[in-house]
Amino acid sequence: MTGLMAGKRGLIMGLANDKSLAWGIAKALHAQGAQMAFSYQGEALEKRVRPLAEQLGSDFLIDCDVSDMAALDDAFETLTSRWPTIDFVVHAIGFSDKSQLRGKFYDTTLDNFLMTMNISAYSLVAVAQRARAMMPNGGSIITLTYYGAEKVIPHYNVMGVAKAALETSVKYLAVDMGPENIRVNGVSAGPIQTLAARGIGDFNYILKWNELNSPLRRNVTIEDVGGAGLYLLSDLSAGVTGEIHHVDGGYNVIGMKAEDAPDI
Ligand code: NAD
Repeated sequence: MTGLMAGKRGLIMGLANDKSLAWGIAKALHAQGAQMAFSYQGEALEKRVRPLAEQLGSDFLIDCDVSDMAALDDAFETLTSRWPTIDFVVHAIGFSDKSQLRGKFYDTTLDNFLMTMNISAYSLVAVAQRARAMMPNGGSIITLTYYGAEKVIPHYNVMGVAKAALETSVKYLAVDMGPENIRVNGVSAGPIQTLAARGIGDFNYILKWNELNSPLRRNVTIEDVGGAGLYLLSDLSAGVTGEIHHVDGGYNVIGMKAEDAPDI
């Protein structure tokens, strides 16, 4: 199957390197004919993002710190100046002070709570507001979330609270934008070793636990996430909105694994 995204163009937000979940999605979209612009946070990342964008045939890079509303306005103005309309947005952004992604949740400070909510949850709303104006014929927006929104995962702390807000934002945005044929969905990915994941305490333990306990008995890859992203951003999922789609080897359905499971 080729050409699912032919004639469609959109914005990828949150590509940092070739381990990023956004990279898995961008590769899958490119293989199906999508045209993409990439936003990055600051000059240091531009050096990493530019060659990756070039690999996918794009020279359209936009500097954007999503916690800065003026920067977001500028970014969408730059996007509009070249592409008056877009068909999709990938929001693959999250951030918290890593000193609070370990230890106890009750130690979260107000400043970090607000910053984490701003960058990791509110930014989807801010992006959707601006993307909507560029989607007169409808479109599809996805964000990346994690199971720590639903259940307590060691060390995930304030990021879990922000992901819960993000997932609920997906639903409210889906309802608001549904009449405009703009779909909003979340991909809840299993743990994957990335730059952002490195900030989470005992991340290797989380990875091992998921590998041993998920129904598929393996961790997912950025290519697995890419396939789901492609589905949600293409017309294959035309009837789907407000959904949180798990790409986690089935881990989220496990209540308790059988005692005699051979590999624990
Ligand atoms: P990553 O480090 O490759 O990507 C995180 C991105 O967020 C980076 O590109 C970074 O520049 C960007 N970012 C952070 N603060 C920003 C800001 N203020 N403005 C603009 N961009 C900013 O890591 P990743 O794991 O690919 O993360 C992408 C998304 O996937 C995040 O939302 C993360 O929570 C989510 N996710 C990751 C995992 C995992 O295990 N890696 C699992 C589920 C969900």
